[in-house]
Amino acid sequence: MERLQKVIAHAGVASRRKAEELIQTGHVKVNGKVVKELGTKVSSNDKIEVSGIPLEREEPVYFLLYKPRQVISSVSDDKGRKVVTDFFPEIRQRIYPVGRLDYDTSGLLLLTNDGEFANLLMHPKYEIEKVYVAKVKGIPPKEKLRQLEKGIKLEDGMTAPARVKLLSMDKKKQTAIIELTIHEGRNRQVRRMFEAIGHDVLKLKREKYGFLTLRGLHTGEHRELLPHEVKQLR
Ligand code: URA
Repeated sequence: MERLQKVIAHAGVASRRKAEELIQTGHVKVNGKVVKELGTKVSSNDKIEVSGIPLEREEPVYFLLYKPRQVISSVSDDKGRKVVTDFFPEIRQRIYPVGRLDYDTSGLLLLTNDGEFANLLMHPKYEIEKVYVAKVKGIPPKEKLRQLEKGIKLEDGMTAPARVKLLSMDKKKQTAIIELTIHEGRNRQVRRMFEAIGHDVLKLKREKYGFLTLRGLHTGEHRELLPHEVKQLR
């Protein structure tokens, strides 16, 4: 038995607070009867309706995908390009990515059908540490890397402090490999940060998401998150 508002939030229909509001304002029915009591517990057999629409309930599932490059972080694409859910032909649940990686970015991406979990992780306040490895054009001098560390002005505001490590450089080819650790998740943030110091990103990979790594996976492979991993992320 689970609390009604939790079940609604898990289905991805609304945040938990919004679900509570929907219940209290009489928009939720359980087995055909309006329920306004927040403490109400429901089982998997109970039929729930939100604003007249039956709630589709699925067992929550959580996956970690090693996303290849040239794949869209979406469940469908009108141009027919490969999407991340194509890597889960055996999964009947309607999973979707938690946030996104650019088309040309590879690396660690979570997918779930648990709307509440996804919303929580994507909330800017949540600040999960993400580790990226970028191959950039040119060899950025120390001062520029320090700028990235301290925070840099982008068109949507200053970036929060970051950690930066120069992993290697190729003087002949004039490229460098740099590890960048950030807590934010703005659109194309890593690429824009490097562009801002004048070093375009040639290749980008997300190596870590919080305590999760790509260990044991090849590109295109996925695994289920372990129950304790899901718990730790919440
Ligand atoms: N930052 C980017 O620029 N691209 C990504 O895919 C992820 C973070």
